[in-house]
Amino acid sequence: MQICILGGGVIGVTTAWYLARDGHRVTLVERHPEVARETSRANGGQLSYRYVAPLADPSVLPKLPHWLLARDSALRFVPRLDVQQWRWCIAFLRACTTAQSRRTTAELLGLGMLSQQLMHELVAAEPLAFDYVRNGKLVVYRDAAAFDGARRQADYQAQFGCVQHALDGPACVALEPALAHVGDRLAGGIHTPGEEAGDCDRFTRGLAGAAARDGVELKLGVELTGLRVKGHRVTAAATSAGDLEADAFVICLGFRSQPLLASLDVHVPVYPLKGYSLTVPAAPGRGAPRVSVTDAHHKVVYAPLGEQLRIAGMVDLTGTRADADHERIALLARQARDTFPDAGDYDAASAWTGMRPATPDSKPVIGPTPYRNLWLNTGHGALGFTLACGSARVLADRIAGREPPLDADAFAPGR
Ligand SMILES: Cc1cc2nc3c(=O)[nH]c(=O)nc-3n(C[C@H](O)[C@H](O)[C@H](O)COP(=O)(O)OP(=O)(O)OC[C@H]3O[C@@H](n4cnc5c(N)ncnc54)[C@H](O)[C@@H]3O)c2cc1C
Repeated sequence: MQICILGGGVIGVTTAWYLARDGHRVTLVERHPEVARETSRANGGQLSYRYVAPLADPSVLPKLPHWLLARDSALRFVPRLDVQQWRWCIAFLRACTTAQSRRTTAELLGLGMLSQQLMHELVAAEPLAFDYVRNGKLVVYRDAAAFDGARRQADYQAQFGCVQHALDGPACVALEPALAHVGDRLAGGIHTPGEEAGDCDRFTRGLAGAAARDGVELKLGVELTGLRVKGHRVTAAATSAGDLEADAFVICLGFRSQPLLASLDVHVPVYPLKGYSLTVPAAPGRGAPRVSVTDAHHKVVYAPLGEQLRIAGMVDLTGTRADADHERIALLARQARDTFPDAGDYDAASAWTGMRPATPDSKPVIGPTPYRNLWLNTGHGALGFTLACGSARVLADRIAGREPPLDADAFAPGR
């Protein structure tokens, strides 16, 4: 089959690679001259297959007033005259039940575990250089109540085969000596030895190169302007390089999937959650952490990527403009300097802003649409790098009519 993938972030490129391996003729359309120039560019670098619990949880409800009012909270909401934003918020609040949060956690753990297994197979098949490390993840908590909640979550996840250990403050510092500066402020941490990290940008560009060698046609610098439809089929993608015909089309446009699909009366609840990162020239083992660390209090992740430390955080529900907020980036830098003061040269840090393509229930949207040859693989929120391989495999299975290795209905559009 001739398949046209729309969008060249980590999701589109991974989808292209898996579909090419299934023997399809694949074209990928990306408006930038290179792949991974938007949200897949400088994200947190975490392959956190076991940290997939959704944001929508009853525990967030008491925190909402703070998010609305405080400039320096990790999550920030600025209401807009935007019906999509309000629809998203209402669906998010509806998803904040214990039953749904637990069900979603179990479903995302299944997709996470599948993604890890497939990532291992992928790196064995394609020797990609992307600062990939299997170094484990330590999530540290600064207050006892939050640490207790994390221990309960780890206990719940143990039934799904997740190996996680609760550590007290001194044990956290013993595991990651770079935490010494904040050691006396730590209530404890959860260590997950099986977690991994890597540079999503280098992964995506490397995999695009491998896919191109396997015959995938990369149409870079080509803007999609719409889809042409006839009855219940898409006949062509209208682009700045003319119409592209194919037997099937896959939407992987990140947060821009929503408006494109709405023009066809297909509604996916994907809305951008803005975040920021800093990339600091660093010295792992000499002030910079060697394991991936998440500071749960500030919701900031730290990943050692070769000679650099990637610091990422903030969740801003502030609209669809991808412009940088310098106050938020400065806050991220202050928090990082406070936690790891000797990690590297903060003055030489490069800052980045990204838009997580988020759904209210934190699950990606993978599967068919009412148009018989139009498929979706989008809405991966804060977990696109982590879930890319599993999501692409599930979509490839659905296109081939094979039974996916997990309950694909959990991720289907309109679920
Ligand atoms: C601060 C931050 C930290 C994060 N940390 C992590 C992490 O540690 N681990 C993790 O797993 N995930 C993380 N994420 C999430 C992850 O980055 C995203 O889920 C992922 O990048 C989404 O990939 P995507 O391919 O769907 O979207 P994108 O990377 O945005 O790709 C969509 C592509 O579509 C293209 N496009 C859009 N419109 C058009 C058009 N009209 N014509 C042609 N092309 C078009 C865009 O140019 C873009 O390249 C983080 C995100 C942020 C913002």
